[in-house]
Amino acid sequence: MIPFVTGKLHLGGMETGPDLGCYAMRAIVIGSAAGGGFPQWNCGCANCVGVRAGRDGLVGRTQDSLAVTSNGERFALVNASPDILAQIKATPALWPRAPRHTPIGAIVLTNGDMDHVLGLFSLRESHPLAIYATPPVWSGLEASVLIRTLKRFEGQVVFRPLAIGREVELSDAAGEPLGLRVRPFAAPGKLPVHLVGHAAESPEDNVGLSLRDSGPGDTKAIAYAAACASLHGVDLENHTAVLFDGTFYREDELVRLGLSKAVAKDMAHMPISGESGSLARLASLKARKIYTHINNTNPVLARDSEERRAVEAAGWELAFDGMEITS
Ligand SMILES: [Zn+2]
Repeated sequence: MIPFVTGKLHLGGMETGPDLGCYAMRAIVIGSAAGGGFPQWNCGCANCVGVRAGRDGLVGRTQDSLAVTSNGERFALVNASPDILAQIKATPALWPRAPRHTPIGAIVLTNGDMDHVLGLFSLRESHPLAIYATPPVWSGLEASVLIRTLKRFEGQVVFRPLAIGREVELSDAAGEPLGLRVRPFAAPGKLPVHLVGHAAESPEDNVGLSLRDSGPGDTKAIAYAAACASLHGVDLENHTAVLFDGTFYREDELVRLGLSKAVAKDMAHMPISGESGSLARLASLKARKIYTHINNTNPVLARDSEERRAVEAAGWELAFDGMEITS
């Protein structure tokens, strides 16, 4: 019933003696769109019109989130999107195994953007949650009146701080380890829109994550950086797979479409194309390369677009809801 096997892949079929198995973490992309989703409720751009009409080559997407596991039984979510209830419903591995149960033991936040935190407030059915976030992201949440809804009883929300460069073992609210480790790394970003002018900027407003199984030794890791304004100080080496910011194809994508005056940089995203885009800048990165957090305006969403062909010719994949990745 549960489409997951243990994260430990046995080599050689040894029954006794030292465990020579290698360890792998698995990640399920439960949402692959940028804020707003695809289609976006108030958007009639060509992509959104096309996906609503069921145009061939366009696939709907929920807002960016990842479920990671080392054993297929306990999961950590990376971010909590406003679509979280639909994402859990669409992902059998995340279904409860008993009355009042969830395989989700912890939620790791990469920033305080609404498309990454609003889902927390849909998980308020009196279930203890461990939330990992940097102190500025946590204080932003605490400043919101909504967080009170997650404090119905003592211990409903257990906050555990993340710090750039420090790897931590993830545990559920009761302190039970999930068999996963996470190391936040610097990813240039910005304050969430609702906090601009209300909080001081910090390098910890936005982080990328290096995620791996807690197995012994140097187990293989997956990097996740769904919002990344530049590669300055960003550490993506030594990962088997990299999920990267695929929000916009062009720096001036929204301006060209007449949808905004803001360019990608204003929203703390690196575009895919161009001299300073991720396609060029990450050309030599040795990893499975996957774009996620794809905005509904991005032409790569259309399977027959020249932009999609350019991305695929450069060896990149596009994340989709339900995609599974093994470290
Ligand atoms: Zn649109």
